[in-house]
Amino acid sequence: MNDIKTTKCPSCGCTDVKSELKENQHVNGHWNEHREFKCGFKIHFVPNFMSEREEDPCEKGPLYKKAMDRRYAAINKLEKYIARLDVDDNFKERLEHEYKYLSPEYVHLDLKKTYPEEFV
Ligand SMILES: [Zn+2]
Repeated sequence: MNDIKTTKCPSCGCTDVKSELKENQHVNGHWNEHREFKCGFKIHFVPNFMSEREEDPCEKGPLYKKAMDRRYAAINKLEKYIARLDVDDNFKERLEHEYKYLSPEYVHLDLKKTYPEEFV
């Protein structure tokens, strides 16, 4: 990695790197660089802006847990809501199928957008 300077997670202090990836060289000669720490925190060097951006948050922090709890609660509500719909069972099954394999952890989470009051 040439441009990524972050060597530890700003939230939990983890320094163990899980993976690194360098891809898509920009016309300015710099590369898109990604570094993921074991705690889930992921940083991306964006050559277009010549700066680092958070790509994924630390999974050890209380905000991450709070957001995941809400996502799981939303899926529970959705299940109950669909069960009560006045519609045939085949259609209900199709609706359930749409989110059945969706894991809340695999959908990008931007904690700064979700909880802006925590980052003032
Ligand atoms: Zn962390």
